[in-house]
Amino acid sequence: MPYDEALERFEPVLGLETHVELGTRSKMFCGCKTAFGAPPNTQVCPTCLALPGSLPVANAQAIESTIRIGLALNCSIAEWCRFARKNYFYPDMPKNYQISQYDEPLCFDGYLDVEIEGQTVRIGIERVHLEEDTGKSTHVGGATGRIQGADYSIVDYNRAGIPLVEIVTKPIPGTDRLAPEVAKAYVTELREIMRSLGVSDVRMEEGSLRCDVNVSLMPRGASEWGTRTETKNVNSLRSVERAVRSEIERQAAVLTGGGKIIQETRHFHEDTGGTTSGRSKEEAQDYRYFPEPDLVPIAPDMAWVAELKAALPEMPSVRRQRLQAEWGLSDLDMQAMYNADALDLVEATVAAGAPAADARKWWMGELARKSNESGTPLADLPITPAQIARVTELVASGALNDKLAREVLEGVLAGEGTPDEVVERRGLRIVNDEGELSAIIDQVLADNADAAEKVRSGKIAAAGALVGGVMRASKGKADAGRARQLILDKLGVSE
Ligand SMILES: [Zn+2]
Repeated sequence: MPYDEALERFEPVLGLETHVELGTRSKMFCGCKTAFGAPPNTQVCPTCLALPGSLPVANAQAIESTIRIGLALNCSIAEWCRFARKNYFYPDMPKNYQISQYDEPLCFDGYLDVEIEGQTVRIGIERVHLEEDTGKSTHVGGATGRIQGADYSIVDYNRAGIPLVEIVTKPIPGTDRLAPEVAKAYVTELREIMRSLGVSDVRMEEGSLRCDVNVSLMPRGASEWGTRTETKNVNSLRSVERAVRSEIERQAAVLTGGGKIIQETRHFHEDTGGTTSGRSKEEAQDYRYFPEPDLVPIAPDMAWVAELKAALPEMPSVRRQRLQAEWGLSDLDMQAMYNADALDLVEATVAAGAPAADARKWWMGELARKSNESGTPLADLPITPAQIARVTELVASGALNDKLAREVLEGVLAGEGTPDEVVERRGLRIVNDEGELSAIIDQVLADNADAAEKVRSGKIAAAGALVGGVMRASKGKADAGRARQLILDKLGVSE
């Protein structure tokens, strides 16, 4: 059903569960390394492989990071809580249970504000808890990469036991047609907060931030919420938005046709933008939770929690407001920079001495274009904020004009060295030598006697063609304003 029609008939209610892999050096309950991309099953030990007799020990850094996340999300912190065993069988989980938290989460009852079209939407946070990640299954053979139709499956346990924080929202009603945008804005803001806390690299493409999207619909005017579905492991910000939209359209069609929504997990498909049915959703009792007997309860010292709270970094939304005021930008310009992931880069360029307007001009102009062309994220371009600051300095001093500056950037991106080295090697410095410039102008005047004559007789507009000739003859390295002045002087006219 078309989205607009679905929204005329139904109101969506959202819920978002986000998993964040913490960037701790060792795993949650053992000393194994956590580096991404190591050869399969090289970062494992008896504890994370669940061999008999092994015992878990909780990672203190992971507990601290989780508390900091909870504080950043305005949560209360439990004075006493326990880990719980969540029992289920899955081949990528060697213990046949996951150590998680059940009815005693470490952090609870918070909120996160997001901005949508100029208005603030407050999203309630139900809980933030700590658990361990599973391993990774790869299904070989078959067309889809899923287990159905595969010839065999292999498992890599390097990820098993990496600390995972789960952040669960309260149900989010009232977002109406903006539901997809709200979901995306929430995950985006969450990612920014994780970055500013430095607790995770939050790379969605590597799975260190994954989102499960819950959607239900209720007929307009109804008071009871509908049955929800849970679309699992949505792995990009854009996909979060698309998954919400496509579930709204799908559920509206089912309900309007007299069908029922069943509570189930669904898979999102990047190629079609739609979801397909997974398994019917387990209820809590299916997991037979009980307190983890091999771990002591967590009882954080509340004075220490207060210290962690006082030491939180500036939150991303506060920082954006501050930078926008400092740089004198409109909401639209600021949003564009934020969407382009350019804030850190521009800020670092300004810190390296560039005026904000210049820093923004290069990152959002020439470099954004290069980034789009090459498909490389702006931050991964092989050029540093300090190098951009140096280029703006060279332009400000008159050593480069914008055209030459673009060539310098190109050289730096091509690996030809620092901006100064590129200027030297490519011979890009503006012609400041009066004698050299004068000689070029004499040649241009001789070659364009007609235009020169027009200027001499008072048609100063014709000087533009002569300046153009000088720029061509100098391969863009002349200072156009200086060239124009010299041309007029030589022809004995003034403006
Ligand atoms: Zn281990």
